[in-house]
Amino acid sequence: MSENTTEDRSTEIPPNFVEERVAADRAAGRNAGRVQTRFPPEPNGYLHIGHAKSICLNFGLAQTFQGKCNLRFDDTNPETEEVEFVESIQADVRWLGFQWDGAVRYASDYFQQLHDFAVTMIKAGDAYVDGRTTEEIRATRGDFHTVGTPSADRSRSVAENLDLFARMKAGEFADGTYVLRAKGDLASADMKMRDPLMYRIRHAHHHRTGDAWCIYPIYDWAHGQSDFIEEITHSICTLEFVNHRPLYHWFLDKVGAAPLPDGGASAPAASYARPEQIEFARLQLTYTVLSKRRLQELVEKKFVAGWDDPRMPTLAGLRRRGYPAAAIRAFCERIGVATRDAIVDVSLLEFAVREALNATAPRSLAVLDPVKVVLENFEEAVTFDAPFGPDLPGVDSEAAKITRKLRLTKEIFIEREDFMEVPEKKFFRLAPGQEVRLRWACIIKATRVEKDETGKITTIYATWDPDSVGGQPKDGRKIKGTIHWVSAEDAIDAEVRLYDRLFQAENPMGDKENWLASVNPNSLQVVTAKLEPSLAARAVGECVQFERIGYFTVDKDSAPGRPVFNRTIALKDSWSPKK
Ligand code: ATP
Ligand code: MG
Repeated sequence: MSENTTEDRSTEIPPNFVEERVAADRAAGRNAGRVQTRFPPEPNGYLHIGHAKSICLNFGLAQTFQGKCNLRFDDTNPETEEVEFVESIQADVRWLGFQWDGAVRYASDYFQQLHDFAVTMIKAGDAYVDGRTTEEIRATRGDFHTVGTPSADRSRSVAENLDLFARMKAGEFADGTYVLRAKGDLASADMKMRDPLMYRIRHAHHHRTGDAWCIYPIYDWAHGQSDFIEEITHSICTLEFVNHRPLYHWFLDKVGAAPLPDGGASAPAASYARPEQIEFARLQLTYTVLSKRRLQELVEKKFVAGWDDPRMPTLAGLRRRGYPAAAIRAFCERIGVATRDAIVDVSLLEFAVREALNATAPRSLAVLDPVKVVLENFEEAVTFDAPFGPDLPGVDSEAAKITRKLRLTKEIFIEREDFMEVPEKKFFRLAPGQEVRLRWACIIKATRVEKDETGKITTIYATWDPDSVGGQPKDGRKIKGTIHWVSAEDAIDAEVRLYDRLFQAENPMGDKENWLASVNPNSLQVVTAKLEPSLAARAVGECVQFERIGYFTVDKDSAPGRPVFNRTIALKDSWSPKK
């Protein structure tokens, strides 16, 4: 990104506090001005909109400061990780518009190095092999009021520890029989420092290292060291890691990273020493659940059709729903970066989506709840050109002038709710004796209706004004309402999936035990709609506006002659009190 872009950005949206910290480090000459960040997902699920926030922040910092951002998989948990997730995560980062520096990295690339660091610590008397179970370890760790009780194993000799650790690695012991622990401080007020675990035994196949390892590093041990190995200058993470920071620095002391000159606030000037951790509040959204574990539960319990179900807050789901990547980036930038947890109103995201699509989506005609209208005095079909648009004030775009042919025929479909037999006040649409404009086409006036035995209107009869082709009556009389329509002869049938919010509760996690109870049972409604024929040519993933209704995106379930459209978002925020 050029200097210019950086300047433009800072005048529009004030820099967030992380940017300010990084800028201050550069001004002080730390790390010789170098900025290296990383996005470190665990490949145990699909990315969600919360991850997008972290991606935009980490890659955004690299762009703003001409630095680099790595993509590193924290793949230290062989049981929960899958290649499917590794692939989807890369696709999602790229789709969001970012490219990581160099090759994809994996914590598993560093298994040997981490092991060697651990051996260094054992030799220095800073780590020991503990033969107690994790339950026993937890029970003897003490709490805020009680110091921890040392295990008898804590006083093993270095030689004995080296031997046992080598045999753990060689696969001699069963899962859970031994762990490697750091020799911290069992009396520390910081519970994380009370002999934290470093390795556990898991005879599990790893998606990358296969069966080469049966000891796997604990996250806290692997994470900080991986950042150190990659020479990350700024380790951006979420608030829950604030209290891991002392432990991460202690580990770095033990593996020989250069000490910090100012007690931990930063790395020394002009030389790389160790990553500086900066924490920010994780994104939470109203009416949304953002936790891979919970999203997985929604998939497994079949509340949704999969990770990419358009109701899911996953990037794969939002993409399929039709949310543009640019809208997600704009949203992340606009909400800023907070230092305190707060729930962001999901309508801000929806606003960003409408804003992006309003500027780009071609306009088309589609009727979701069709009722037939017969134009009694109509003889021969009329064909005319209508631009796709969007026709936006102040924007003179060539693309927006592209037209398609629309044909007005004797029989058309209109939206059932656009007709009232007995119109209420201010109903400016179609009614007996009342005129309305058909978008792009002409003026019609209803004369009578036909109903079935239940009283439901089956056909509306109307007359058209042949002197109003194009929509303007020759005599200049004012027509207040305009409605959309499609030719009954030319229309194509489409399956349209109308999505609503997946949760009815503003904070679904407010009741942790019962969060699934707030799943919206009506979050998907499927209708057969009548579309103007040009919509048959839209490709999967293309998003259009159905005029007066909303934005709709072609779904991958479409078949030739039978398109499937997802409602991306309605035109207006139907949830706001001012409709
Ligand atoms: P989850 O609880 O959804 O599994 P996680 O934090 O365990 O999230 P990781 O794969 O470990 O998921 O996350 C990769 C990166 O994304 C981390 O740096 C994490 O801090 C960040 N991240 C995850 N969720 C959010 C969120 N809701 N808002 C901002 N950043 C997030
Ligand atoms: Mg996690």
